[in-house]
Amino acid sequence: MPQPTPDHLPDRIQHFIDGAFVDSVDGATFDVLNPTTNEVYIQAASGQQADIDLAAAAARRAFTEGPWPKLLPRARSRVLHRIADLIEEQDERLAELETWDTGLPITQALGQARRAAENFRFFADLIVAQRDDTYKVPGRQVNYVNRKPKGVAGLITPWNTPFMLESWKLAPALATGNTVVLKPAEFTPLSASLWAGIFRAAGVPDGVFNLVNGLGETAGDALVKHPDVPLISFTGESRTGQVIFANAAPYLKGLSMELGGKSPAVVFADADLEAALDATVFGVFSLNGERCTAGSRVLVERSVYEEFVGAYAERARNVVVGDPSDPATEVGALVHPEHYEKVLGYVEIGKGEARLVAGGERPAGLEDGNYVQPTVFADVKPEARIFQEEIFGPVVAITPFDSDEEALELANGVKYGLAAYIWTNDLRRAHTFAQNVEAGMVWLNSNNVRDLRTPFGGVKASGLGHEGGYRSIDFYTDQQAVHISLTDAHSPRFGTSK
Ligand code: NAD
Repeated sequence: MPQPTPDHLPDRIQHFIDGAFVDSVDGATFDVLNPTTNEVYIQAASGQQADIDLAAAAARRAFTEGPWPKLLPRARSRVLHRIADLIEEQDERLAELETWDTGLPITQALGQARRAAENFRFFADLIVAQRDDTYKVPGRQVNYVNRKPKGVAGLITPWNTPFMLESWKLAPALATGNTVVLKPAEFTPLSASLWAGIFRAAGVPDGVFNLVNGLGETAGDALVKHPDVPLISFTGESRTGQVIFANAAPYLKGLSMELGGKSPAVVFADADLEAALDATVFGVFSLNGERCTAGSRVLVERSVYEEFVGAYAERARNVVVGDPSDPATEVGALVHPEHYEKVLGYVEIGKGEARLVAGGERPAGLEDGNYVQPTVFADVKPEARIFQEEIFGPVVAITPFDSDEEALELANGVKYGLAAYIWTNDLRRAHTFAQNVEAGMVWLNSNNVRDLRTPFGGVKASGLGHEGGYRSIDFYTDQQAVHISLTDAHSPRFGTSK
């Protein structure tokens, strides 16, 4: 089902460098598709080395010569609050464009737009509340930490919730006084071009924010290898993270890596099963299943297994799939035909590996576009590919377990370690499991609701480093230790023997 085309789409998507919208130096462009038809609806400038060079130079100038890094935190905070206001004022337009470009259901895209505003508000507040360590050695020394922005931050983002994930990096990078070059995902460049107008209206000086569109292997790669960009914050696939890690190594860059996931949702028989059902269905089918923290492996205690699988399949069959711009839609169209083929490939693999209990086909009546039925596989063995590999679509693997030990072994038996969801009313079991599960983030009797002050990040192949709250401030700043003597200096006197 095609979506209604939003009014006033731009005629093309450009870069934004040093306060101006520009095409690529060599004029190169790439096609951008609408996911409900897979028709090309716009051309975007395809950044190459030369465009990244210009953006990095503008950002470098704005850092060394401009006012931004030297502003008082309160002044930057005011600008960040204005950015949040401007995002809130246009949240519906933002959601409309995001839905058009990504295929995400409109109600969920609206939630993501508001979260983007909240990210700016949060870091605006945090930066004025920032305090740093001071240590005293009584009568001898005072030591304090001098926190400084690092310079030009390279931000590389994925397509699943583009604008929100960009805000997650832009807000702390700018709050701490850095200047930035953003390289958004090539499947979904539309909403990123709104940043330029928002930042300008909020009073961000030219050159502080630079945007270069383009493919990962060209624009992204040039940013990673740029000598004047000392840190890279990357969110994307684990495999891409490995490539970036290697490419950044010769430059010894600061790296933050938010990578893939295959998170377990563990349902014990003593849990509130209705609440667990609501959360585990939402956990894998919201955002079209294109969610890094999706609970895409549901592990269920055997005594309630058949009942739970039956109820789960029933819910999945009733999930409303359709036009992403319809507020009744729960699952929209997957982002791009390449990704759609990947997800359908896993559905076919799953049919040979496990028991299909819901979905597995293109929904009836949706002949064009990247639509797939919410798909549920039961009796999935831990060695199955659909248990081990990130599918990043509305596909879930359900597996039974007989004991806490087996549940833990299953939960930890993959290369990823991003999130875990645990459903039980036994306090001791909940905390023991949380302690032992290999996941950067754990939710007990809850779906994915995150307090922005908490650390965000994964372990194992799901990431390196943590952002969130003060950890983001730490990533985007250097902490210089300053030591002051309170006494006469008593240095050993070298060179006085003659
Ligand atoms: P991807 O790795 O294909 O691309 C992410 C970004 O990296 C894009 O902007 C892309 O152009 C760029 N890129 C690709 N190759 C590059 C290279 N060689 N050098 C520099 N940049 C390069 O990921 P995707 O398909 O866009 O996103 C989906 C993935 O993101 C999933 O694995 C998902 O789990 C993960 N993700 C993780 C989190 C998290 O916080 N952990 C959040 C959202 C998505």
